[in-house]
Amino acid sequence: MIQSINPYNQQVVFETKELTKKETEAAIDAAHKRFLSWRKTPYSERSKLMHAAAAELKKNKQEYAETMTLEMGKPIAQSIAEIEKCAWVCEYYAEHAEQHLANKPIDTDAAESYVSYEPIGVVLAVMPWNYPFWQVFRFAAPALMAGNIGILKHASNVMQSAANIQKVFERAGFPKACFTHLPLSSSKIEAIIKNPKVKAVTLTGSKPAGSAVASTAGSEIKKSVLELGGSNALVVFEDCNLEETLKTAVQARFQNTGQSCIAGKRLIVHKNIAKEFTDNYVKAVRELKSGDPMDEDTFIGVMARPDLAEELAAQLEASVKAGAEILIGGKRDKAYFEPTVVTGVTSEMSLFKEETFGPVIGITTFETEEEAVDLVNQSDFGLGVSVFTEDMQRAKKLVPLFDDGAVFVNELVKSDPRLPFGGTKISGYGRELSADGILEFVNRKTVYFN
Ligand code: NDP
Repeated sequence: MIQSINPYNQQVVFETKELTKKETEAAIDAAHKRFLSWRKTPYSERSKLMHAAAAELKKNKQEYAETMTLEMGKPIAQSIAEIEKCAWVCEYYAEHAEQHLANKPIDTDAAESYVSYEPIGVVLAVMPWNYPFWQVFRFAAPALMAGNIGILKHASNVMQSAANIQKVFERAGFPKACFTHLPLSSSKIEAIIKNPKVKAVTLTGSKPAGSAVASTAGSEIKKSVLELGGSNALVVFEDCNLEETLKTAVQARFQNTGQSCIAGKRLIVHKNIAKEFTDNYVKAVRELKSGDPMDEDTFIGVMARPDLAEELAAQLEASVKAGAEILIGGKRDKAYFEPTVVTGVTSEMSLFKEETFGPVIGITTFETEEEAVDLVNQSDFGLGVSVFTEDMQRAKKLVPLFDDGAVFVNELVKSDPRLPFGGTKISGYGRELSADGILEFVNRKTVYFN
C-alpha cells in the first residue's frame, strides 16, 4: 500500500494499492494505443478539451485544493491559488500550442522545405509533492496539446492528488488513457523508462532522483528533461526600494512553507544596509501566521513530511555550529518548522552550499558588485536569481554575469506559462513552459520536397 499521511495531524488520509507489473504494462499499452489516435486529432479538438480541463479545475478548485492541503500541508489559500494557476497553463497551451508548433519554412534548393513538429508518443512524468498539481500540469498541458500521451508517477505522499489530476482530464472529456496516473513506488521507474513504448521522461525533484532517472533514460537513448533543486539568491543592493524588496524577499522564501525549488534561499545583502534590512526582515517574518493549513488565513503550514523537517534542522544546526546566528525561529515539532532567519552565513556553511527546502533563510553580506556575482555563482545550483536595485543600468550589466537559468529584477523568481522555466548546473536541463517547453518532447522533422 502507498499512503498519504497528513503532516499536520499524522492521520492517514488516503491509501492505494501499488499496481502490479502486469497492470503497469497494460496501462502503458493502453497509453500507446491511445497515442496512435490522439496524434491525429486536430489542434481545435485538443484545444477544446484543454479549455474544458481549465474549466473543470476552476469549477472544483476547492475539492482539489483541500486534498493537496491534507496530503502535504500546504495552506489552503495557496492550494487554491495553485489550482487556478493550473487552469491558466491549460488555457495558455489551448490557445498557443498550434502557433508554437506551426511548420517552420526554410529557404533551400528544394521546391519546399520546412521543419514540422510532431508528437513522439508516451512520455513519463516523475513528479514531486511540493506543488502536487502545478508540477504535473506544466508538463501535461503542453504534452497533450502537442499530441503526446502523459503517464504520471507522482510522489508517494500525494497519490490522491495524482488520482484527482487524472480525474480532471477525464471530467474534461479527454479520451481514455490520454493521461494516466500510475500508483507506484520509485523502484518501478527504471522498468517503465526501459519499456519500448515509453519514449521520454521528465522529472522534477532532487538530484539523486534526477540522476537515477536520467541515467536509465541515457542508457536507453531516450530524451530526458530534469527540473531539480535550486538555491536561488536574493541580491539586495543599497539603492533598492526597501519596503518593496522586504515584502518580495519574505514572499520569495516563505511561500509554500519554503518548499519551492525557485524559493529565494540565500539572502545576499549589501553591507551598508545589512543591519536595517535584517531588522525589518525579522520583523516581517515574525508577523507571518503559522497555523492549521486548512485555515484560510494561515500562511505558514507544516512541511510535507517530518523527515524533511528533520533534514532542515540538521542543516541549520551544522551552520550554527560553524558560526551562524539564529535571529528568529529555529525550533521544530514533527513536521512544523518555525519560520527562521539566520545571520552570519558564509559560503562554506550548509545553509549556503546546500538546498534548504523549508522556512529557513540565511543572510550573507557583500560589498562590491563583483563579490555579489561571485557569491551568487558559487552555488552548485543554477535555477534563478533575484536582483533588487533601482539602477536598471547596473541590473542590465549584471544579467549576463549570472550562471542561472533566470534573472528577475525587483521580483521573485516565478514560473509563468509564457516564459521558459529551467535551470543550469545541478538544477537540471531542458525547459518547461512557453514555446521552449512544448518543443522539448516533439520530433523536429525536416521535410524536403524536390
Ligand atoms: P525526491 O526527488 O526523492 O522525489 C521526487 C520524485 O522522484 C518522487 O515522485 C519520487 O518518488 C521520485 N523518486 C525518488 N527517487 C527516485 C529514483 N531513484 N528513481 C526514480 N524516481 C525517484 O524528493 P524527496 O521527496 O525525497 O525530497 C527530498 C529533497 O528533494 C527535498 O528536500 C528537496 O531538496 C528536493 N526536492 C526538490 C523539488 C523541486 O521542486 N525541485 C521538489 C521536491 C523535492 P517517491 O515519492 O515514491 O520516492
